[in-house]
Amino acid sequence: MPLAPLVDSLGRVHDNLRISVTDRCNIRCFYCMPEHDVHFVERREILDFEEIERFVRIAVTLGINKLRVTGGEPLVRRDIPVLIRRLSAIPGIRDLALTTNGVLLPQLAGPLYEAGLRRLNVHIDTLDRERFLRITRRDDLDKVLEGLEAAKRAGYSRIKLNAVAVKNLVEPDIVPLARFARENGFEVRYIEFMPLDAQNLWDRSKVLLADQIIETLSREISPLRPIPDPDPRAPATEYEYADGGGTVGFIASVSRPFCLNCNRVRLTADGKLRYCLFAIEEDDVKGLMRSGASDEQIAALIRRNIAGKWEGHEINSTRFVAPPRPMYSIGG
Ligand code: SAM
Ligand code: SF4
Repeated sequence: MPLAPLVDSLGRVHDNLRISVTDRCNIRCFYCMPEHDVHFVERREILDFEEIERFVRIAVTLGINKLRVTGGEPLVRRDIPVLIRRLSAIPGIRDLALTTNGVLLPQLAGPLYEAGLRRLNVHIDTLDRERFLRITRRDDLDKVLEGLEAAKRAGYSRIKLNAVAVKNLVEPDIVPLARFARENGFEVRYIEFMPLDAQNLWDRSKVLLADQIIETLSREISPLRPIPDPDPRAPATEYEYADGGGTVGFIASVSRPFCLNCNRVRLTADGKLRYCLFAIEEDDVKGLMRSGASDEQIAALIRRNIAGKWEGHEINSTRFVAPPRPMYSIGG
């Protein structure tokens, strides 16, 4: 048990840490990265495995027990299975998951499983090669599909598919992707397009809202009904098909913000601590670590960061200011 959990001024208890292990990526989704001239952090500015592990061990003493490894694309980080093995061995971690674009899963699904990973989210918006190329600016759909097969063979049980819901673009993909998931025992999670793209393309009219997707799937496949949530802080709102064909999740940050139940904190690849995906301020964990700080000093920084957490993002207000870092640089 932690000495005192990480609680903010609104009483929200934080037990969930998302760790970005790189800002680099092997594809270029338009809602995340610019097409050209991407600015990556220099390698020496990226936390090494010792630093990440040390941070997690300290965070566990403060009540963190769920980890998600993300990026950029976490599978482009060299020796990622080694980090997974180290993280999965930390006492107090109850849940370890990884989010990937799947391109390198054909090679890495097995080694990651052997290293202790059991939960995977694979990002795939479309099964259409041409649209995949338009969205990601790379022709890698076959590798992602092969990666999903490799993940199934490796033994991952509940593989989730992350699909970004962009209006006037992915509507033709909603039903085929949902059917593909049902046939393969995957769960799709539709993520409403958020204002985190590198080229400031976002505006509300480009968001395909969760309600529209629910309506389409209910009409075309089988009626969807909400599943009462055992963890009210979980961001995906879960639905099940009335015909028993599985479940679908929605991360509806735009149409149904869940800030008041947020239990997350994020560590960027360059060692900055952020209490919100949309935070404007961040705390410099790496600077503190590299200047010889004690574990207690790092724990105090984590507490301060959470204590200062705002009520929530204001995507739906005219006051909203997009964070200076786009998605790939924060870690989604
Ligand atoms: N590269 C990995 C991937 O694509 O899954 C991990 C990092 S990526 C930033 C994490 C997730 O963020 C992706 O699964 C994608 O669905 C989501 N994402 C990226 N940009 C987004 C945006 N502007 N709005 C909503 N979701 C976004
Ligand atoms: Fe890369 Fe993931 Fe961003 Fe796509 S969403 S560019 S796969 S980091």
